[in-house]
Amino acid sequence: MTNKNFYNLPLSKEMIQNLNSIGYEFMTPIQEKSLPYTLENKDLIAKAKTGSGKTAAFGITLLDKLNVKKFRIQSMILCPTRELADQVAKELRLIAKFTHNVKITTLCGGVPYKPQVHSLSHQAHIIVGTPGRILKHLSEENFLPNDINTLVLDEADRMLDMGFNDDINSIIDFLPKQRQTLLFSATYPDNINNLSQNIMNNPITVEIDTVHEKSIINQSFYEINKDGEKKDAILKILNNFKPTSTVIFCNTKIACDNLADDFEDFGLDVLVLHSDLEQRDRTECLVLFANKSYPILIATDVAARGLDIDNLDLVINYDLPFDSEVYTHRIGRTARAGKSGNAVSLVGSTDTELFEDIQDYIELNFELKSLKDEKINYDFKLTSEWRTLYINGGKKSKVRAGDILGALTANIGLDKNDIGKIDIMERCSYVAVRTNVVKKALDGLSNGRIKGKYFKIYEK
Ligand code: ADP
Ligand code: MG
Repeated sequence: MTNKNFYNLPLSKEMIQNLNSIGYEFMTPIQEKSLPYTLENKDLIAKAKTGSGKTAAFGITLLDKLNVKKFRIQSMILCPTRELADQVAKELRLIAKFTHNVKITTLCGGVPYKPQVHSLSHQAHIIVGTPGRILKHLSEENFLPNDINTLVLDEADRMLDMGFNDDINSIIDFLPKQRQTLLFSATYPDNINNLSQNIMNNPITVEIDTVHEKSIINQSFYEINKDGEKKDAILKILNNFKPTSTVIFCNTKIACDNLADDFEDFGLDVLVLHSDLEQRDRTECLVLFANKSYPILIATDVAARGLDIDNLDLVINYDLPFDSEVYTHRIGRTARAGKSGNAVSLVGSTDTELFEDIQDYIELNFELKSLKDEKINYDFKLTSEWRTLYINGGKKSKVRAGDILGALTANIGLDKNDIGKIDIMERCSYVAVRTNVVKKALDGLSNGRIKGKYFKIYEK
């Protein structure tokens, strides 16, 4: 991988300075291959794995074109899930920091519709959302698409998997014909080809080979003879790796819940993410995991779609997925953006064929190892350095991260290093604090004001 910086691109000095200030010094390979074309307004199909920096590849492109003074929607980004749309919006805000007043609105299903209509009445520059909800807004004429000059389909393969093909085509009927269309996808099945032929104009195709990524995820496979051995195997694996952040994938909700019960009996703190949870609980679960308050997240594939957690050091397949492609999606959640990571899979006695399929698919062969002779260390614990405090006020109460930080440092006297991630939601906020100061933080926040108001504070 060559290290190319952003200076050779036709970008403003402010944009480049801002990229450097957020730590983007060198282009990732997919950025290096895409940006020279996309900045010339060419249509592009980019095939690259999760974690390769696709968001910035299109984000830089559309922000470079954006006319901030013209308060009209100029770009539309379609994503498969709400979590992904939120992540894209967050990354765009980061990249857009150098220009004032760029307004990015998210329009996703699973959240109330009316507030979105209201928000649209105040205009926006960029909208990010899921196809179903965006189509509803378009059909009800809640915004005018006439000034849209860039359309992005992010994770196009997953949008098609989820059945959004018709919605996407209907959305495109509303958009101006003269536009730039960018399509990003981790895989390139035939149905993507059909979609792109209909909606793109002489697209350039760029692809980042997967070899590079294979080499940085250390994959191992363990043989399991009886189903009951799986839990013990996981405990041994966790004890060997002592990870700070692990996602464990199960194929069913029931398996997730059962494994979580087993872990709780063992004294391990875990989070469980599956589609039975209310949207609010799912969001909270992701916050608590991303800010490192919990070392283990147990999830199904559906629930984990779009999960982007930095520094995930281990992915465990409690069950092998039925589809080899899902295997690569799962393990792609570790080793993001050039870091290395570990993926461990349990192979049951009836999984031999799935194991073969996976090896064929990724074009690598693995020996099946055994954990039988390893003893379980019953003293082992996975503790996290962080705890989360919930505050019952957020954006609606005009609470900002700086206010919470100020209350904890200036008023309560915590050190800045004792305060971790702060997440501000619509009606609540979360702040991670180090375990040894959680009581002080909880008491201090409960008895003091944030932004002149008293809030209810709970430990999560
Ligand atoms: P993808 O959409 O391909 O899955 P993302 O766009 O989410 O990947 O990027 C993965 C991570 O890499 C993010 O945390 C992002 O902030 C980071 N990243 C993107 N581009 C760069 C860069 N040029 N330098 C350093 N980090 C980057
Ligand atoms: Mg992405």
